[in-house]
Amino acid sequence: MTDLAAVRRPARCRRARVSVGANIGILGTLTTAALVLRSIDYGESDRVVTLLGRSTGCVGAIARGARKSQHRFGGGLGLCSIGDAMLRERGGSELLTLERFDVTTTYLSLGSDVARIGHAGYVAELLTKLCAPRQAEPEIFDLAASFLRHLDAEGVSPTRLRVFELTLLERLGFAPALETCAVCGRSDLSVGETIDVRFIPDRGGVVCQGCATRGRSMRPVVRATLAALARTSLSDAVNVVVTPDVARGCRDALSELIAVHLSAPLRSLQFLSQLDNLERTASARVPALPVRGAT
Ligand SMILES: [Zn+2]
Repeated sequence: MTDLAAVRRPARCRRARVSVGANIGILGTLTTAALVLRSIDYGESDRVVTLLGRSTGCVGAIARGARKSQHRFGGGLGLCSIGDAMLRERGGSELLTLERFDVTTTYLSLGSDVARIGHAGYVAELLTKLCAPRQAEPEIFDLAASFLRHLDAEGVSPTRLRVFELTLLERLGFAPALETCAVCGRSDLSVGETIDVRFIPDRGGVVCQGCATRGRSMRPVVRATLAALARTSLSDAVNVVVTPDVARGCRDALSELIAVHLSAPLRSLQFLSQLDNLERTASARVPALPVRGAT
């Protein structure tokens, strides 16, 4: 489920966490609010799901008879459903048993257009890959639920997606250095036109020219925008106007940063990239409304 994120996390960034994995074994069963990150059919009637539990963190579970039992699952194991999950330990198996799942929140609009599906799928895959298994992260659960609520009600916003990424990275202890050099800590970085930093994801963010021996240059406006977005809430994200070229710079920088913590590219990113290409092709053919950002 989770790959190299845990072992690649720099020790200085590691946060104290509470492991709840053992508690499930002691308690036998546990009920938690949970978000469905992945759900695949298994056998004739079962499903294997990946859940982000508010009090369990990321867990895998098998839902016996899920494709037939409306009583125990209520048809609520679709991508990004939120509900109360009753989980049971399975005698040393990594997979838990999902006894029942009572849907509490349904995002009716998420399946209404491919862009919403794309953003929801990306967020779900990001959480699956970056969240350590069985490590309770209630703030991350709340962040994901809030993002999905905005996505459902207001549609896609690339800027809000950047805010989600930055907030998630911060909560996981991966926040990039954006306002000071990641190596020497100097804070007198340019905000004008002079390019005086490089972006080096595996060094933790921006690095001043005095410290950098590699990496690609980052424009001051991209660095300043990322720094501003890191201080912005999901609710306020749509009020931040970003030009398309700066939006692409922010998107690419965060994509590179996230890739440092992954063992393989995210499949959902390819889908988002295809959507972006379609959007650009369409806007090249038809006079378009002002664009607020890239995908
Ligand atoms: Zn430096």
